[in-house]
Amino acid sequence: MIHIALDEWKMYVRDEMEEDKRIEYEEHLYSCEHCMGHYLEAVDAVQRDLPSIEGPSLYTDEVMERIPFEGGDARKPSRKDWYEKKVFHYVLATAMTLILMATGIFGELLKVTSEFEKNSQPSFTENILNKTTALLDDVEKVEEQEAE
Ligand SMILES: [Zn+2]
Repeated sequence: MIHIALDEWKMYVRDEMEEDKRIEYEEHLYSCEHCMGHYLEAVDAVQRDLPSIEGPSLYTDEVMERIPFEGGDARKPSRKDWYEKKVFHYVLATAMTLILMATGIFGELLKVTSEFEKNSQPSFTENILNKTTALLDDVEKVEEQEAE
């Protein structure tokens, strides 16, 4: 199987790729745990690159300015759309974790780790769980800021 590089995943997260390529990546993501790790890393990295998280009020003003109050039919892609896409990625990442949990991988993992507690090398699946939890914490923080 040919894996997809971290940089490619960053492009995917930023929605900087052709539709058919994006679909191809998504299909790969569902079947490849290795690339899911990269994907979660990319979501994390792209989120850290975001300057506007520092200024949620500025962002809100900008969105308000762009909303067509006078019934104009031009629906230009705005930063609001971009943010909605970002939330979609978090939801997807969470869904992936839940799928892994549902398929019993985490359960098996916990058994294994309790048997080998002494030489605790954090496993890949554990890393994903930690990363996803951290991402969700970040989302909650952002949401709190935006709610102010
Ligand atoms: Zn892969």
